[in-house]
Amino acid sequence: MKRAVRSRRKVYGQLLGHARRHPHRECCGILAGQDGLITQAFPAKNVAADPVRNYEIAPKEIVRLMGELRKRRLEFLGIYHSHPHWLDTNEPSPKDVALAYYSEAIYCIVTPRPYATAPIRAFSIRNGRAMELEIQFLP
Ligand SMILES: [Zn+2]
Repeated sequence: MKRAVRSRRKVYGQLLGHARRHPHRECCGILAGQDGLITQAFPAKNVAADPVRNYEIAPKEIVRLMGELRKRRLEFLGIYHSHPHWLDTNEPSPKDVALAYYSEAIYCIVTPRPYATAPIRAFSIRNGRAMELEIQFLP
């Protein structure tokens, strides 16, 4: 059985909207909430040298976002990024797996492709292995 993560439905729209505004490159941000429930996405700037193939959030921006979470009493729950529209899958790439530093985090991958069966997928990435999680969207 897949482990499940819970998210507010509005986060689905936030992630998909962000990915679809930049379909030709990767977008990214962090996921936050309370008691393990994702309630909000915070978009971040992709500062990767090649944003078409990679994503990277600047350490400074991570610090700023963590401060923002503290102020709002939210927990850091995960990181999201998108794959550009010409990629078939929104599954973790070898690089996504290699660079997944937060073993407790939920990694969401979004595709801006219009007819994707699962536009947003969630993974837990530990010890070099990605495991898909079920996402339950709550009102
Ligand atoms: Zn990726």
